[in-house]
Amino acid sequence: MSKKGKLFVFSAPSGSGKTTIVRHLLSKKEFNLDFSISATSREPRSNEEDGKDYYFMSTREFKDHIKNDDFLEWEEVYRDNFYGTLKTEVERIWEEGKHVIFDIDVVGGLAIKKIFPERTLAVFVKPPNIEELKIRLKKRGTESEEKISMRVAKASIEMATAPQFDYIIVNNELNSALNDAEELVRNFLKK
Ligand code: 5GP
Repeated sequence: MSKKGKLFVFSAPSGSGKTTIVRHLLSKKEFNLDFSISATSREPRSNEEDGKDYYFMSTREFKDHIKNDDFLEWEEVYRDNFYGTLKTEVERIWEEGKHVIFDIDVVGGLAIKKIFPERTLAVFVKPPNIEELKIRLKKRGTESEEKISMRVAKASIEMATAPQFDYIIVNNELNSALNDAEELVRNFLKK
């Protein structure tokens, strides 16, 4: 795999607001970032588009990619829900002369950092607390009660990995979290 651009990992428990942060950074043209579209075997949500939000595929197709060693990292994030970063995806973005930005879970984020330690900036986005996280997930209204409980349970475990990241952003107040994220990206691009 060629090593050209940089990699920006934003990892966080589901509902922490990391997607909003990643979208904001993508809108800043001067950063020259492109979003790493993950592959997943989960069902698309009504507002999601194949090839834009994710590459949606069957579990079988996903497992074929695992067998072919097509993934940089992959994980069964929730039971029967596989997620992974295809090597071709990072290549595609680097070929375009851009830097890669990831919206992935903590284990995947740390895996990317381990593969490219020098060229990855790994940021953990922390929700103010677990209660707030529950409220945000409920407000989003995309998951059932059971799925919300599953995500909240996972969040407590994920919070413990925060110190392994290069930086932690606490998402108490969105505008200041967005500014912090911008500052981190700007500084890392200068390196
Ligand atoms: P969601 O189902 O809410 O889109 O994503 C569930 C979790 O899987 C989120 O924490 C999301 O960041 C993570 N995720 C998305 N893509 C990937 C990936 O390529 N690899 C890994 N390890 N996690 C991912």
